[in-house]
Amino acid sequence: MKSKCDVLVVGGGPAGLSAAIHAARGGVDVLVVETHNEIGKPLCCAEGISLSGLAQVFEPKDEWICSRVEGVKVFSPSGQSVTIDHPDAGFVLDRTKFEPYLAKLAQNAGVMIETGSRAVSLSLHEDRFISAEISNSGTPTEVEFRVMIAADGIESTIARLAGLAKPLSPADVASCAQYRLEDIAIDVGFPEMHFDPAIAPGGYLWIFPKSPTSANVGLGVVPTLARNVSPFQFLDRFVTKRFSTFRIASKMMGIVPVFQGRRTMLKRNLMAVGDAARLVDSLTGAGIATALLSGKLAGDFAAEYVRNGERLSVLKAYPEEFMRVYGRRLRMYSLAHQIFRRLKASDIDFIIGYANEIFGGRRVRSIDSVAVIRQILARRPSLLKYAGHVVWK
Ligand SMILES: Cc1cc2nc3c(=O)[nH]c(=O)nc-3n(C[C@H](O)[C@H](O)[C@H](O)COP(=O)(O)OP(=O)(O)OC[C@H]3O[C@@H](n4cnc5c(N)ncnc54)[C@H](O)[C@@H]3O)c2cc1C
Repeated sequence: MKSKCDVLVVGGGPAGLSAAIHAARGGVDVLVVETHNEIGKPLCCAEGISLSGLAQVFEPKDEWICSRVEGVKVFSPSGQSVTIDHPDAGFVLDRTKFEPYLAKLAQNAGVMIETGSRAVSLSLHEDRFISAEISNSGTPTEVEFRVMIAADGIESTIARLAGLAKPLSPADVASCAQYRLEDIAIDVGFPEMHFDPAIAPGGYLWIFPKSPTSANVGLGVVPTLARNVSPFQFLDRFVTKRFSTFRIASKMMGIVPVFQGRRTMLKRNLMAVGDAARLVDSLTGAGIATALLSGKLAGDFAAEYVRNGERLSVLKAYPEEFMRVYGRRLRMYSLAHQIFRRLKASDIDFIIGYANEIFGGRRVRSIDSVAVIRQILARRPSLLKYAGHVVWK
C-alpha cells in the first residue's frame, strides 16, 4: 500500500467510489481503502433508485439494472391501495455489479483501490488531519493525505473519530430485515410499499422486484416501537401471508440512520459523504442517490482544494452545494418521518386515501414530494402535533 496520496477515501460503497472517480477526474492522486475483500459485497440494500437520483451523477447502464420501475403500489392498514403510474420512475439495481462498475471507472481514472484494508485511526496536526492508520490483515500502514473523504457508511468510524457523526441511538434509526425471495409472482414494474403499524411499526414494508419471479422483500421498524418483536418476525408474518409459494435465496439485516443536518459533513480538511454523514431520506431510508451526489461534490471540491493551494474555504462549498440541491427535501422528509412514526392506522388510511385523490388513475411524469407532504399537512393540520421538536443545523 502506498503511504502518501492527495485524497484518501475511506469506504468503497457508492459514496466513496463516486468521490474517488470525481476527485481523480479533477487531476489528483486518489487512494480508496475498503475493509471488505470485494467491492459490492456483502450487500444490504433493496437497490431501488429514482431515474433522476441516478442520472444526476451516472448514466444508467443495462449491465447493472435488474428492472425498470414504472410506478408504485401503496397499501394502507385497512387494505386500501393506490397505484401511482409513473413511467421512468427509476430502477432496481444489481449493486453487486453497479459498484464493481464504479470501481472500474475509478481505476480507469487512475484511482488505486485497496480492498481488505480498514482505516482505524486518524491523526491531526495543527489545524488539519494529516494521516490515517490503515490495517491490512493486521499489518498497519500510516497513509498521509492532503484531504480525506469519509465514506465509511453507517458504521462511520472515521466520521466519528473526526467528531462529525454521533453514535446512533435506537430512536435515530430504523432496524431493517430483508429477504431475496425467488419463485414468487409479482408485477415487475410496480414495487409495493405497505404502510401499517401492525406490519412494520414506525416504518414500512417494501417489495422491490428484481424480475417477474424474484424481489427484495424487506421492512424497517423503529426499534423503540417494535416491543421486542424482531424485524425478521414481522417479515415472516407478512411473507407467509402474502405469497403462497416462495423460496428464500438470501437474508440480510441492517440499519438506516435519519438525517442530522449539515453539521455532519465537514470538519477541517475532512468531508463525510453518504451514510457516514447521515445524508439519507429519513422517510424511506433511501440513501444511494444522496451517496452518489455527496460523493461527486466532495470529490470535485477535494480536487480543487489540492490544486489551488489547500485553502479550507474551498471545502466549505461542499455542504453549501449539497444542501442547495437536497437540503429542502431532506429536511421535509425528516419532518414527515417524525410525524409518520407516531401515526395511528386511521391517520395512515387518511393519507393514502388522499394520495388516491391526487394520483389515482392518473399518469404522472414527476412527483414533488415536498409539495405533497405540504398538501397533506394543510389538509390535516392536526398531524403536526406529532412533529415534536425537529431541529437541523
Ligand atoms: C435493508 C436496507 C435496504 C435499503 N434499501 C435502499 C434502497 O432501496 N434504495 C436506497 O437508495 N437506499 C437503500 N438503503 C440505504 C443504502 O443502502 C445506503 O444509503 C447506501 O448504501 C449508502 O452508501 P455509502 O457509500 O454511504 O455507504 P455503504 O454502501 O455502507 O458503503 C460504505 C463502505 O465503507 C466500508 N467501510 C466501513 N468502515 C470502513 C473502514 N473503517 N475502513 C475501510 N472501509 C470501511 C464498508 O465496508 C462499505 O463498503 C437501504 C439500506 C438498508 C439497510
